[in-house]
Amino acid sequence: MRIIERTETTQIREVCTAVICDVCKKKYPPGWVKLPEVCHTDVRVETGTAYPSGGSMVVYSIDICPQCFESVLMPMLEKMGAEFTKCEVDY
Ligand SMILES: [Zn+2]
Repeated sequence: MRIIERTETTQIREVCTAVICDVCKKKYPPGWVKLPEVCHTDVRVETGTAYPSGGSMVVYSIDICPQCFESVLMPMLEKMGAEFTKCEVDY
């Protein structure tokens, strides 16, 4: 038999409440936009080793707002010869 009692606990967790673009330094809500709009930007590289028992990795990343992604990062990389892939997703 189990005896169940209710106890009150305090849980501390970290929640992202805002994000600052590393390029323009403007402050945005998490995810850059307010719901129901959706926006994800991701500029990162992850390198390291992975074994079944564990691994290690170095991650370089920046938080870049969608405006800076399109007006700063894309033109800069396109000027260097990069070609972006565009796809549209409906769900
Ligand atoms: Zn920005």
